[in-house]
Amino acid sequence: MLASYAVEVTRSRGRRIAEPPHPYRNDFQRDRDRVIHARAFRRLEAKTQVFTRRYSDHFRNRLTHTLEVTQISRTIAGALGLNSDLAEALALVHDIGHPPFGHAGEKALNAAMHEHGLFFDHNLHALRIVEDFEQRYAAFRGLNLTFEVREGIIKHSHDYDANEHPELAEYFLDQRPPLEAQLIDLADEIAYNTADLDDGFESHLLSLEEIREGVPIFERFYGPVKQLYPEASEKLQFNETLKRVLNRLVDDLIRNTQKRVTEAAIQSVEDVRRYLQRLAAFSPAVDAERKQNKDFLYENLYFSPSLADEKDDAEQVITELFAFWTAHPETLPHQYQDKAKEEGLPRVICDYIAGMTDHFIYEQYEKHLR
Ligand code: MG
Repeated sequence: MLASYAVEVTRSRGRRIAEPPHPYRNDFQRDRDRVIHARAFRRLEAKTQVFTRRYSDHFRNRLTHTLEVTQISRTIAGALGLNSDLAEALALVHDIGHPPFGHAGEKALNAAMHEHGLFFDHNLHALRIVEDFEQRYAAFRGLNLTFEVREGIIKHSHDYDANEHPELAEYFLDQRPPLEAQLIDLADEIAYNTADLDDGFESHLLSLEEIREGVPIFERFYGPVKQLYPEASEKLQFNETLKRVLNRLVDDLIRNTQKRVTEAAIQSVEDVRRYLQRLAAFSPAVDAERKQNKDFLYENLYFSPSLADEKDDAEQVITELFAFWTAHPETLPHQYQDKAKEEGLPRVICDYIAGMTDHFIYEQYEKHLR
């Protein structure tokens, strides 16, 4: 039984091109499966989340991160009586627009586009992937996803200005997205805040002492875990603590969102849409702890000197390849040369680079610039 404010699949605004119903999968389940079968989804496996493959094959990449976000999102959606099929599809697609090399790649690509008065945004790029770039079906370009999944792709992390983005007018930019979409960004944060502590600890870039000192929510659970498992290894004590941190964040998000929904007397998806703020939120106390956790990761891991060289390399590869293809568009694959006539060369180079895996872009770099 779904809550009255969940998105009912039978009330979906539907696909751009109508398709006959499937005998045993509803439209959001089909969208989930279309995302999983997309090429861009498979490429997430070879895209950096925080650590490149140089560190270890068992650290998160963008695909395993995506799977963690998906499971967390399903749990939260289920507990709130939301549509977990929609939440699942949205979580699976949430990082599909990311370029190679994690945030360093995104920064370099955006900077290269700025030189041409343009910009790169991974959410808008994700929409282009599912609307246009994926070619699997004879009847239409793209994946022909339902409105609610496309809306969630562009609204999961922030609100676009309707004046700046007239091309997105169909997505009701003046309204909040349904709760299923609102929770994805927060589930994303829960997933990476905890996973990055884990990979940071395992890589020895973060010590237990540093984490205990810099992340109060971790420290709060560490003492009791040590008392409960005094003989366990440091790593197992660490794992038990981290599990409690993750549970704490998920539990708080569920309870606090439920409380806000009740207090705002939300009865329907339309109420969620018209409410002035997003309703999915951590409580103020836990939100402060979440922020400490995140700030700690920025200061000590994402901006750590140990990762700096790698990030500089990543930015250089993207910047130089972008400049190379700007000067030598005849070396681009033919379909990109054709597209450049309509969309302009910078956008097409940006699309080409954004779709690459870490591995493929290095290959291109070797081929053209070494
Ligand atoms: Mg993510």
